[in-house]
Amino acid sequence: MRLSRAFLPTLKETPAEAQIASHRLMLRAGLIRQTSAGIYAWLPAGLRVLRKVEQIVREEQDRAGAQEILMPTIQSAELWKESGRYDDYGKEMLRITDRHEREMLFGPTNEEMVTDIFKTFAKSYRDLPRSLYHIQWKFRDEVRPRFGVMRGREFLMKDAYSFDMDQAGARHSYRQMFLAYLRTFQRMGLTAVPMRADTGPIGGDLSHEFIILAETGESGVFYDAAYETTDWAKADVSTDDVDGLKAFFERVTTNYAATDEMHDTAAWDAIPAERRREGRGIEVGHIFYFGTKYSAAMGLVLAGPDGVPVTPEMGSYGIGVSRLVGALIEANHDEAGIKWPDPVAPWAVAILNLRPGDAATDALCEALYVNLADDAVYDDRPARAGEKFADADLMGFPWQAIVGPRGAAAGKVELKRRATGERVELSLEDALARIR
Ligand code: ATP
Ligand code: MG
Ligand code: MG
Ligand code: MG
Repeated sequence: MRLSRAFLPTLKETPAEAQIASHRLMLRAGLIRQTSAGIYAWLPAGLRVLRKVEQIVREEQDRAGAQEILMPTIQSAELWKESGRYDDYGKEMLRITDRHEREMLFGPTNEEMVTDIFKTFAKSYRDLPRSLYHIQWKFRDEVRPRFGVMRGREFLMKDAYSFDMDQAGARHSYRQMFLAYLRTFQRMGLTAVPMRADTGPIGGDLSHEFIILAETGESGVFYDAAYETTDWAKADVSTDDVDGLKAFFERVTTNYAATDEMHDTAAWDAIPAERRREGRGIEVGHIFYFGTKYSAAMGLVLAGPDGVPVTPEMGSYGIGVSRLVGALIEANHDEAGIKWPDPVAPWAVAILNLRPGDAATDALCEALYVNLADDAVYDDRPARAGEKFADADLMGFPWQAIVGPRGAAAGKVELKRRATGERVELSLEDALARIR
């Protein structure tokens, strides 16, 4: 992408409405534009990050054995009346009436719909276990949408649903997702601590929230200092190894970690004082095992192996895909701007041409650009060097390939690593090799 022709707007001033770093930087770096309270348009750079986050989430869901579907955003109220949640859900649900006076809603989650779909096709215990997921926009009419995409009203969520024969099977499915979540966040360079959580309106008896520790987080958290080392998160177990996965799950969850809603003061007091950590965090994922709550309410009953009907045990598993973009910035920024981790960066490199019009400089920049293709933004604008440096730092590309007339004459590129500030002078070939 050539900056002279790109739609990558940046702002010099700090927008007054943004209270936290990630929101400020998402606006300043031109990732999003608010269109209504809590509703955002994604601009080119933001959309590329969103898609990369989404793709990592997708790959780890597939690896865990879940299959992707796509359910609609608009749902019929009928389904929610069957489960009894239509009235319970309250004002967070955006209710819509169509021209025939039918009650509809913009889905805040999909337990009812997926249960209904599965019911249409599943006939017997041979159709179990199965896991389905989709990545789709949700709407929740939050009382206080804030912090940009962190608490939007419209937001992108990955939600998965598992159907199992019995409790043991459902707990295995739960642990498979637990593992998939640890892997998903690790691939983005994030440490998300699984914490005992309240099941809320979804219902059920087993639940974990995945929390990224951050002062600007909206959840109060209590955890053992053991979670400050990352060894615990080493997800080195196979998805299909039932006993190994159970042992892994037990090891990872053995130390105390709970959100304020589930905080157990007696258990807390039993932990040595020097290991108690109290702080704040961002909820980026939430998994639930809720048994037959929806299958029973919605009549999902299958023929069992011995003639006894089976009501599948279910779980649901959410990841805040759009919230993660904000959380990634909270975890990776400095005064100058964003520092994208490589796996989610919108582009890997910014090529900074410090003297457009100088033949050697232009030639070297073009050579870099041709080789890096879709991974590079080429700053070919007739702007001051200072402006180019500032924009590249703000937008946070992991690498900057800086080319000026003096270097170009000697065939040298200055390569800067955004995360560390390290700089090295390299030939074209060596610079390309370093970036890849
Ligand atoms: P919160 O406690 O932040 O309101 P939640 O517990 O209501 O979230 P869940 O129903 O558990 O949310 O949904 C799954 C995931 O969707 C959450 O873990 C979070 O990452 C994301 N999410 C929920 N609400 C929002 C929102 N308003 N904006 C962006 N992401 C959200
Ligand atoms: Mg909520
Ligand atoms: Mg919550
Ligand atoms: Mg939650």
